[in-house]
Amino acid sequence: MDVNVTEVGPRDGLQSIRNILPTHKKCEWIDALACAGLREIEVGSFVSARRVPQLADTAEVVSYARGIVGLDVVVLVPNLQGAHAAVEAGAKKLTMPISASEAHSLANVGKTSEQMVEELRRVKEYLHFKSSDYSDETFEVEVGISTSFGCSLAGRVSEDHVIALAVECARAGATSVGLSDTTGMASPTQVRRLFSRLKIELGAQAGAAHLHNTRGLGLANALAAYETGVRSFDSSLGGLGGCPYAPGASGNIVTEDLVFMFEAMGVRTGVEFEALLRARELLRAALPLEPLYGMTPEAGLPKDFVWPSRF
Ligand code: ZN
Repeated sequence: MDVNVTEVGPRDGLQSIRNILPTHKKCEWIDALACAGLREIEVGSFVSARRVPQLADTAEVVSYARGIVGLDVVVLVPNLQGAHAAVEAGAKKLTMPISASEAHSLANVGKTSEQMVEELRRVKEYLHFKSSDYSDETFEVEVGISTSFGCSLAGRVSEDHVIALAVECARAGATSVGLSDTTGMASPTQVRRLFSRLKIELGAQAGAAHLHNTRGLGLANALAAYETGVRSFDSSLGGLGGCPYAPGASGNIVTEDLVFMFEAMGVRTGVEFEALLRARELLRAALPLEPLYGMTPEAGLPKDFVWPSRF
């Protein structure tokens, strides 16, 4: 594939939705996403079940999703305790959110950015111990720098600070460090500037673009990131989602529109459009009260459109 699209709907999408989706419905949805060709899915997070009751069944969802052949199962962990639970459940790929904005960091995880980097070091140490315990196991920890492009609590976020924090995380042992526009405040120019700097500083450790469509610039920002050399993107089916601890945050960029944009450019995503629409219908039936976004699913593919991933 030319780009890697990670579906984050089951985690980023569901976390702000009050209506609890039963475990078997989540598994059906994940199945349908994998059938559509999505090879990496963030299926949940190991956070306090009291704070995010929607994701209290993550361990069960992980153990189901691990059985899907060829699927990379990703879970979000905010701390060492979460990493213990993730490894216990059989997860191999962890993602940690580390905020560039202190205000968001405290609201989101109750720790400062520096304390989170410390937490990352502890998680790495634990995983190192675990992988030497079972010699054939390897673990990955990706970091997403939240509020990299601005924060709805603190306002502007220093770009120098974002890059310095990313470098610190890479040195602390993160497999890759990406940049997240948690509250949808980025512009394409800013995306180009920050991802270029990230690439210069981190080289192969420069990670994914995690973008939200809060102000309608999601796809423009994704394209800017692609043109800067980013090849890994997070998105959610139907643009479901938001951040419960960042006021005004709305959904991720829409998977359906993102893969259409890439395929229309001849950039292969490995995703099948018709199958993706089936996953969307399943989600609509499971959460009938939630609005689903996306322009391509409504309009359909252009006449005579050739979907490059098919060939
Ligand atoms: Zn997000």
